[in-house]
Amino acid sequence: MRQTDIGPRASTGTSTSTQSTEEEKNETITPVYPWATSRHAIVHTLDYLVSKEITIISGEVQCQKCQQQYKIQYELQDKVNEIAKFIFKNRAPNIWMTPNLPNCKYCNQRNCFKPIISKDESINWLFLLLGQATGFYKIDQLKYFCKHTKIHRTRPKNRFVYLTYMELCKQLDPRKTPRL
Ligand SMILES: [Zn+2]
Repeated sequence: MRQTDIGPRASTGTSTSTQSTEEEKNETITPVYPWATSRHAIVHTLDYLVSKEITIISGEVQCQKCQQQYKIQYELQDKVNEIAKFIFKNRAPNIWMTPNLPNCKYCNQRNCFKPIISKDESINWLFLLLGQATGFYKIDQLKYFCKHTKIHRTRPKNRFVYLTYMELCKQLDPRKTPRL
C-alpha cells in the first residue's frame, strides 16, 4: 500500500492555524468510508483504491423540494478522467462553483438533488470530489478542510474551490496532479 502524498509540499505561503500542533497532525480518526483514510480530510490514492477493488464510490443526496434521500454511485475512474480535464486550466470552471444538480425521480422537480454533507470526520470528500460538488461546501467544511490540508482560506471563493479540487486530486493521484 502506497501512502498518500501528504509529506512536505510546496508551501502555499501562510500557515493558517496557530493550533496546528504535532499531536494534531498525528491524530487519527476512524474512517467512515472504505475510500477514506484515518487522517482528517485525506482520501486514499487511486492506486490503493484500485488495488482494493474499490471502484464504485457512493454517497447520500437529498431532494431540496420533497426532502427524499437517495444514494447515488459514481464509477471512480470515469469521474477521475472527467475532473482531470479541468485541472490543468488553473481555474475553477463554472460547473464547480454552481454545480448541476440531478433531477428528483420522486417528485420530478428539476435540479434539486444536493449531496448531504456531514460534519467534519464524516464528510464524504471523495464522493463530493467525484460529483464535482465542492462548490456546496459551507464555511465550516472549508475551515475544517483548510485546517487539515494547510490551504490558505482567505482567497476568493472560486480560487479556493479550485484549490480544494487540486488538493483532493493530488491526494488521489499525486503523480498526475501538478503542485499547487
Ligand atoms: Zn424531490
